[in-house]
Amino acid sequence: MASVAKLLKTAEKYGVTVVHHGNGHYQLTGKLLVNYYPESKKQTAYVAGTTGGHHGVDEFRAVMMALKPPVKALDKPKAKRKNNVRLVRWKMWQAGFRHCYVCKQQFSDFEETTLEHVIPLDKGGLDHPNNRALSHALCNQLRANNMPELEHHEGPPVNSVALLPMLVQAVPPSKMVEKLLPPELQGVNKETPW
Ligand SMILES: [Zn+2]
Repeated sequence: MASVAKLLKTAEKYGVTVVHHGNGHYQLTGKLLVNYYPESKKQTAYVAGTTGGHHGVDEFRAVMMALKPPVKALDKPKAKRKNNVRLVRWKMWQAGFRHCYVCKQQFSDFEETTLEHVIPLDKGGLDHPNNRALSHALCNQLRANNMPELEHHEGPPVNSVALLPMLVQAVPPSKMVEKLLPPELQGVNKETPW
């Protein structure tokens, strides 16, 4: 069994924060968000947004999992992409994803977008809304299955669900959409597209 005291000490040393969510579930926040069960028999840890957990994870490895690109769990197949990628992209575009996840530039056109996964599928990332982003075809190719953004990353973990609304750049609702809203909501929430 891993020791919580050692976990806290190791985490502090590497600038990773640890929050106990009860029932032995510890959440480690570094560059990535990691869920860890140090007191369980299997000592499971998994990077949020990935397909599988790792067993027998000691305190040090759990902390490293919050700092380095994930390694896919061996017993889990690579996640399959949804078939209708174009529709997925279109829905994201409609929801306000207008900036490339990789270069941060604004797209000039929907046709420029490709489906990007924050945690690459080859690293165990899920093809799930929480792990999806849009990027230019070339940016997507250059990033490939790497996560260069982790190198100098500061701020909230890149795979935290809470981060996604920040990736969705504010698009003010068009006048047409606003007219469809009930009067009490018109003019409210201009910052978010929905
Ligand atoms: Zn780009």
